[in-house]
Amino acid sequence: QDKKKQVQAVVKTFPDFPKKGVDFVDYFSILYHPKETQLLNEIVIEAVDKHFADAGESPFNMVIGLETRGFFLGMVLSQHYNIPFVPIRKKGKLPGETECANYATEYEEKNAAEIQKDSINEDSKALIIDDLLATGGTLRMAYDLVEKCGAQVAASLVVFEICVLEGRKKLKDPSSCIAIYEY
Ligand code: IMP
Repeated sequence: QDKKKQVQAVVKTFPDFPKKGVDFVDYFSILYHPKETQLLNEIVIEAVDKHFADAGESPFNMVIGLETRGFFLGMVLSQHYNIPFVPIRKKGKLPGETECANYATEYEEKNAAEIQKDSINEDSKALIIDDLLATGGTLRMAYDLVEKCGAQVAASLVVFEICVLEGRKKLKDPSSCIAIYEY
């Protein structure tokens, strides 16, 4: 609890960014502080272990990070559990064959994102990582992409959840999303 408070103390929020009415919670304000970044890594690993405490062996076997702020913790978790890291990026950025999905977010109506087909298969059980859950459009898109590839979502994790927006409800299994801080 102390660790959680220490990290939260360095989180900056910006009203009306990137547009009026959006209260922007800035994940990067944590990365400015190496000590708090290390504490957040520990908090996240503890939360994942707790979520899967009663699950069998290897409940997930890959980590998917959402561009861009899902890449940092995604890498930390992939290294910690010694499993592959795979990115989901905005359309047009990944080489090779890709699967694609369209989505909308809190502040952008139309988006498309992709995953490389050869990085995921029917045996994949993904842990999806992003910095923040707002309306849920982004996370829902990631779940859809994983399923389009014939794979499963084991769970997802966000650092911040903006609870009033009820984004969690967009997920097939709302309880599959681990949130560290609720706003
Ligand atoms: P959603 O699709 O509406 O849930 O929005 C979540 C996505 O938009 C995530 O990828 C976030 O990085 C980004 N996002 C939305 N609101 C914020 C915010 O307040 N701070 C940081 N990122 C945000």
